[in-house]
Amino acid sequence: MSFQFFMKIHSTVFRGAAPLNRPGRDDIIQEAMSTDIEPIEPSPLTRLSEEEEGFRAEVRRFAREQIGPHVRDMDEKGVFRKEIIQQFFELGLMSIEIPEELGGQGGTFFQAVLAVEELSAVDPSAGVIVDVQNTLVNNALMRWANDEQKRAYLPRLAGNAVGSYALSEAGAGSDAFALAARAEEKGEEYVLSGRKLWITNAAEAELYLVFATLDPGAGYRGITCFLVERGFPGFEVGKKEDKLGIRASSTCELILDACRVPKSNVIGEPGKGYKIAIETLNEGRIGIGAQMVGLARGALDHALAYAKQRKQFGAAIAGFQGVQFALADMATELEAARLLVYNAARLRDAGALFVREAAMAKLYASEAAERIASAAVEVLGGVGFTKDYPVEKLYRDAKIGRIYEGTSNMQRLTIAKQILGKPV
Ligand SMILES: Cc1cc2nc3c(=O)[nH]c(=O)nc-3n(C[C@H](O)[C@H](O)[C@H](O)COP(=O)(O)OP(=O)(O)OC[C@H]3O[C@@H](n4cnc5c(N)ncnc54)[C@H](O)[C@@H]3O)c2cc1C
Repeated sequence: MSFQFFMKIHSTVFRGAAPLNRPGRDDIIQEAMSTDIEPIEPSPLTRLSEEEEGFRAEVRRFAREQIGPHVRDMDEKGVFRKEIIQQFFELGLMSIEIPEELGGQGGTFFQAVLAVEELSAVDPSAGVIVDVQNTLVNNALMRWANDEQKRAYLPRLAGNAVGSYALSEAGAGSDAFALAARAEEKGEEYVLSGRKLWITNAAEAELYLVFATLDPGAGYRGITCFLVERGFPGFEVGKKEDKLGIRASSTCELILDACRVPKSNVIGEPGKGYKIAIETLNEGRIGIGAQMVGLARGALDHALAYAKQRKQFGAAIAGFQGVQFALADMATELEAARLLVYNAARLRDAGALFVREAAMAKLYASEAAERIASAAVEVLGGVGFTKDYPVEKLYRDAKIGRIYEGTSNMQRLTIAKQILGKPV
């Protein structure tokens, strides 16, 4: 099976839109505000082009048929099957936006969002593997790497190399730019020392975008982004976390013990890592919103199916108004979350500003997903609380949406800054 046909054709709605020019944090938003943006033809947000429909149907079928049978086992073992990751590569799901001439699919960000949503409806661990590869790692390289770096690394990321994005540390979570990992210049190399924590895909990855500071005294202006290969001397993948949810997605520590990185592997300019981090995370959080929309849809689908066949008091429980109201609320919250996520993704593909919309999408979708998954457990009653049915796993998986790529509070801070304008 191949998605190539669907991936090559972009959404007609935004064809001809302005080139991407996306803002970052407050201090770079002003710069982006002055960007000329061509008018966008209005279209219902959830109406997909024929190509998008076809792509979504293919990913949905793949997720159900190829991932579905393994979800419970992967969750119990806390390991994602290598064969499925290999299928992600073969299907082009790990390189959705990478240009075709560099081995990718030449697709859109919106297609990446569709893929993450569809995979997450079956297994949010699958969703986040594809999400990190596309929205963080590939995205950062496509926008910030020089031509030589793109030619060296993007074909690998499209071919068989999983990527990780390593910003967080034990002392630097929400305050990510308080990072302590050091980079020191030595001849033709930088020597990196420190530890990174919570790194998604780290167990499977071969390529890592690592953020470290050249000058702790310079604050965020010292932060630099390095592309580190697994085989570089002094690099090691450390302890793997044993987690509540998305258990099959690996989350590990990275150990940088005088890790030697060629100078040619600095991504962007030295001291500009903060900008790369802000801008990629602005986009990445739309992907997490999509993961949560997919998860919530999976939970709702299970609840609907169960409510129609479970009988109590001589009738299907779907016939009771109390159950109907719960299902109606779940469906409404899901639709609202999807609209926010699609809007942010469409804005991003159109080259428009989307920082506020992305934060709202992630905030709302993650909180809605938790409520929807919780309600699904209740619709299933006692069996919903067991591992025999998938909703207890989706309920556990939902919790991470409010934590990674910026906690709910950090999304609220971003939204507040955007709506308040100048600091108060
Ligand atoms: C499964 C998993 C996967 C991850 N994957 C990655 C990855 O691939 N790469 C990576 O770099 N990182 C990754 N992370 C790290 C993740 O982004 C951080 O955990 C997250 O940003 C929160 O940081 P923290 O855990 O240090 O919490 P803290 O920052 O310590 O926050 C604790 C609490 O305090 C609140 N808080 C903190 N500051 C404020 C404030 N100013 N105002 C209001 N409330 C505040 C938070 O909202 C939160 O509720 C991952 C984490 C997990 C759990």
